[in-house]
Amino acid sequence: MSQQETPGFSTLAIHAGATPDPSTGARVTPIYQTTAYVFNDVDHAASLFNLEAFGNIYTRIMNPTQAVLEQRVAALEGGTAALAVASGHAAQLLVFHTLLQPGDEFVAGRQLYGGSINQFNHSFKKFDWRVAWADSTDPGSIEAAVTPQTRAIFVESIANPGGVVVDLPAISAIAKKAGVPLIVDNTLATPYLCRPKEHGADIVLHSLTKFMGGHGNSLGGVIVDCGTFDWLNAKIRYPTLVEPNPSYNGMRLAETFGNFAFAIAARVLGLRDLGPSISPFNAFMILTGIETLPLRMAKHCENSLAVAEFLAKHPKVAWVNYAGLKDNRFHSIAQRLCPKGAGAVFTFGVKGGYEAGVELVSKVKLLSHLANIGDTRSLIIHPASTTHRQLTDAQRTAAGAGEDVVRLSIGLEDAADIIADLDQALAA
Ligand SMILES: *Cc1c(COP(=O)(O)O)cnc(C)c1O
Repeated sequence: MSQQETPGFSTLAIHAGATPDPSTGARVTPIYQTTAYVFNDVDHAASLFNLEAFGNIYTRIMNPTQAVLEQRVAALEGGTAALAVASGHAAQLLVFHTLLQPGDEFVAGRQLYGGSINQFNHSFKKFDWRVAWADSTDPGSIEAAVTPQTRAIFVESIANPGGVVVDLPAISAIAKKAGVPLIVDNTLATPYLCRPKEHGADIVLHSLTKFMGGHGNSLGGVIVDCGTFDWLNAKIRYPTLVEPNPSYNGMRLAETFGNFAFAIAARVLGLRDLGPSISPFNAFMILTGIETLPLRMAKHCENSLAVAEFLAKHPKVAWVNYAGLKDNRFHSIAQRLCPKGAGAVFTFGVKGGYEAGVELVSKVKLLSHLANIGDTRSLIIHPASTTHRQLTDAQRTAAGAGEDVVRLSIGLEDAADIIADLDQALAA
């Protein structure tokens, strides 16, 4: 049988990065539950510490189970390298730690995961990293927010919680004009539905906690270096990448590592010094989840469309925002960027506002009322009373989390059962 040159997505989801364990023959990637690794000799140790050779030193910086996860996600996203970390928020922290100096700015689309809005507004302030908010649905507003201090543009591909699909090619053009990298949080889409690199992203990140792991059991995050941004010739200077590094004998990372320098810098500086490493056990759980990503995402999308169609016809529902529905404002852009489906997280408005939203989440039985997405189980939340509670009214509305908004993350149960549960809860 002749081998295809590039294996298909489902094949990569199962095999990329993994080989049978050389010493035991174990077919599944083992959980390398070790803190450190024995050096061959003193010279070997020196070459590892000098970044002259690749190899394991200490699990805060790398681990063999983690390495398979990194290679798998890099293959699925089409990147040159990846770095897996403890959570999606840790991935965001390390991306900006690699790009920004105190006083630098970045532009972020305001349709974001609520936790990202908090991270950018509050914790990043302590590093003097400054966020300029814009509207992800309006590339003109992103362009208007760019200043000479802008060092990056950050958006989600399918934006949380509103089911917004962002015009990545248009925003990439703005990033290129500004000479800064485009960072895309691809958590809600996963590379099965959308590969941001193909639409101009330079850095892709995920909360692996969600659809990638897919079972609601393990936190993780990943940074994918698309290998597309030319740090050495950029009109903006990124000191972490281009200046001689005092902790590596004056090495210039962009010069030494070329098109995967960003992933290396995030590991050997950010992860080394800030420390949010992923546990080998979580890397193993997420790897197992990724093996069924294509099957799960197809079913998540099929169920979501069925539920959205049901809700759109329901008399107690004011509106449904799911880009999979033909009359949705993001339908045509979803077909262009995510032709296999519009994902499984979307919002709808319940007639009766805040009270009705709170009432609905208290009446569901099959759906779980909790603050997560991307589980096999169907999940429901009323953002205004939970995840987006800390934001002001104006911030909530801007983020697509107004008083009447209910967010669903549709799972893998039978669609008829999910619909029946929502039906009884809406009737109550
Ligand atoms: C959950 C989530 C995050 C944060 O990820 P954690 O793994 O919870 O730290 C970031 N972005 C999006 C879109 C998310 O859904």
